Amino acid sequence: MILRLAGRALNFGTRRKLTRYETTARRILSLEADHRRLSAGALRDRVAELRQQVRAGTPLDEIKEEVFALAREASHRALNQYPVPAQIIGALALHDGCIAEMKTGEGKTLTATLVCALHALTGEGVHVATPNDYLAERDAGWMRPVYNLLGLSTGVITQEMDDDSRREAYRCDITYGIASEFGFDYLRDNMKFSAAETVQRGHAFALVDEADATLIDDAGMPLALFGPLGDHSGFYQAIDAVIASLQPSHYEIDSRRRVALTEAGYSEVEQRLREQGLLKASTTLHDIGSISLLHHVVQSLRAHAVLVRDRDYVIENSGVTIVDRLTGRPMPGRRYDEGLHQALEAKEGCAIGEETHTLAAITFQTYFRRYARLAGMTGTATADAEEYNEIYGLDVISIPTHRLMIRIDESVLHATAAGKMRAILRDLEDAASRGQPVLIGAPSIERSEALAAMLEANGWRQRHAQTERDATARTFAVLNAKHHAREAQIIAEAGAPGAVTIATAMAGRGTDIRLGGEHADEAARARVIAAGGLLVIGTTHHDHGRMDEQLRGRAGRQGDPGRSIFHASLEDEFLTNAAISVPRPDQNAPVAPAVATRLIRAAQKRHEIRSFDRRLGLLRFDAIIQRQREEFYDLRRNIRDGNDTLTLATRLRHETIDDLIDRFAAPAAPWDIAGLDHAVRSVLTLAVDINPPSADPKAAAQALAQHIRAMADRWIDGKIACMGESMFVDILRRVMMALIDHLWSEQSDRLDHLKRRIGDRRLPPHKVVAEFQLEAFALFERMIADFRREVTAYAMRVGILPT
Ligand code: ADP
Ligand code: MG
Repeated sequence: MILRLAGRALNFGTRRKLTRYETTARRILSLEADHRRLSAGALRDRVAELRQQVRAGTPLDEIKEEVFALAREASHRALNQYPVPAQIIGALALHDGCIAEMKTGEGKTLTATLVCALHALTGEGVHVATPNDYLAERDAGWMRPVYNLLGLSTGVITQEMDDDSRREAYRCDITYGIASEFGFDYLRDNMKFSAAETVQRGHAFALVDEADATLIDDAGMPLALFGPLGDHSGFYQAIDAVIASLQPSHYEIDSRRRVALTEAGYSEVEQRLREQGLLKASTTLHDIGSISLLHHVVQSLRAHAVLVRDRDYVIENSGVTIVDRLTGRPMPGRRYDEGLHQALEAKEGCAIGEETHTLAAITFQTYFRRYARLAGMTGTATADAEEYNEIYGLDVISIPTHRLMIRIDESVLHATAAGKMRAILRDLEDAASRGQPVLIGAPSIERSEALAAMLEANGWRQRHAQTERDATARTFAVLNAKHHAREAQIIAEAGAPGAVTIATAMAGRGTDIRLGGEHADEAARARVIAAGGLLVIGTTHHDHGRMDEQLRGRAGRQGDPGRSIFHASLEDEFLTNAAISVPRPDQNAPVAPAVATRLIRAAQKRHEIRSFDRRLGLLRFDAIIQRQREEFYDLRRNIRDGNDTLTLATRLRHETIDDLIDRFAAPAAPWDIAGLDHAVRSVLTLAVDINPPSADPKAAAQALAQHIRAMADRWIDGKIACMGESMFVDILRRVMMALIDHLWSEQSDRLDHLKRRIGDRRLPPHKVVAEFQLEAFALFERMIADFRREVTAYAMRVGILPT
């Protein structure tokens, strides 16, 4: 009951928005006649005028109707297509910062031009993010003529570009690019040594196409820049020697093959690590400063206690090769990450591979939340509405299709996998005999290969060459989202009479399937329509209902006839992995439709909640890391741009002195005069007379700090006088930048290790994030303290050779 009400409330809100958009869309359409009369020059001049107005402060909302109308006119002239009301409504929703759900083939690419043209007028840059290179280039190339008529420039960011071309592309009014490259450019920009080297101009407005792929599926996937770490084999071998000598009482393995040291194990390992000089006498593995060491200890423990030779991995060519758990096949070239592979190599006495480490990393979630305004479009969004809202603060609006959808959707739940396969083959043969094109969906690459093998066993033949156009003689093509451009080509042909195509969810994304084929003549189209349009066969349900929808959505585009049928079975993984109770199969008959619907929904709900929770958890960690990252990048930018380097250096020096006083001359305990003397010499290169405090230790400590500061300041002033301020500042700036990058990359590694190890502590779920935050903060403070100490130590020592 409550659910139904909530559902209606949501619909009501959406309805109201749609009604408003419809009214606006009508006004925009009514401008068509006027704009049709404008000369090319007048069209462009008007846009330039509007751009001036926006610069002068006119809000986009005031001019959006006119800009949309101008963009429609440009589209008409450049592409001979007037954006239809559904597209105008979609663009209005995008302008409002929504996720616009528009079905496949509705023309999202063109829809985007309306809102991009509008936001381009701010002069702050518009980023259109796509899931791959192919789509970025295709869409930019396709829409450039429209933008050109409006006097707006278009750029593309692809993987292989150098910085100069990137900078140029970002300077354009509208920049298309792969989502991941936008993120990488942000990371790389924050490692540059001068503002002039950066490529991005800022993060004003981003439009994410195929939003579900980027903002949901890959949301938590870190975009990481790696750098070589060099040879650390000694380190791995030393840890390996420690772990190899442990007794079974030193560790425990739980039912999920997770391993942890026992208390006895901790003391043993700590003792041995101290002997090896890997752990300082005064610290333990539990100290936050030891997090990376602990991480490698745990990895080595996994290598020894959990992973078994000839089951999990084999030794081939004197190296460690991982074995696929499902197929039992060795997978040369694949490596375990996070130091586990090196731990295994140490265990087996193999040569230890060079390691890379994270220089900087960010997730899509965190990156796209940086934009002042974010919008997205996709064919299927409603099922993820909650997640878009919770994570990105975006509302989902489902835009009604331009033409009525007449696709027929069915779903059958078979008792057994064998029964399911028979039904799939029957449907395929039936469609093929009538020349109806068929798209068969597989949940994974392995499944699509298995399907291909099944077809081949039944007298079908796989078409490999793209040129092989003979689709009539029981042949099929297989796509698996590896070669975007080639797959786009094949999928564009998937609507040809008699074509049979097996594809995974991501394959050929962004390309719509036209009935009859890509450049179909009327006869081919008519033949396919007579055969019932495209038939989509699902070979199991996906963990996520959205994936089912995506597959179905390939058929019935723009009011075309079409049909979709899902064949699943009680033995399918999406059911068995969901841990819901399933009725005992009756070998002969499919499950009753009402029961089947309920089961499928329940299993998908279970999976969806699980993955949502996981992503939300990741985001919480990432939000904490992002706060540090931003603070860090701020500091770095200040140094890079040379804002008052001397003042900063003085502050860092004074704080370093305070740190030393706090540590060695705390009021609560007797002063550690020897320690302080040593530290002042080694950090500051100064020799200071230190006497024990007589009366008031606090006042004495302050006086001492003052004294040391004054000495250090004099020393620095002397240096500046001798080498000149500008040279001193320049050297200092370079040192600070190098240090800051080094420290941040170490910090990134440590945060990553902390993220992975925090689960070992078996904390109650609600405490995990709080604990992470606390420890991450402690690590941050330590890093900043290291930074000021090292900068100070360097500044006190810097000198130049006499010429
Ligand atoms: P989507 O991304 O929504 O799946 P596309 O942007 O790839 O759809 O467009 C699908 C097809 O519809 C393209 O061939 C495009 O040229 C066509 N199309 C889009 N909008 C219009 C329009 N207003 N008038 C005519 N054809 C259109
Ligand atoms: Mg598209």
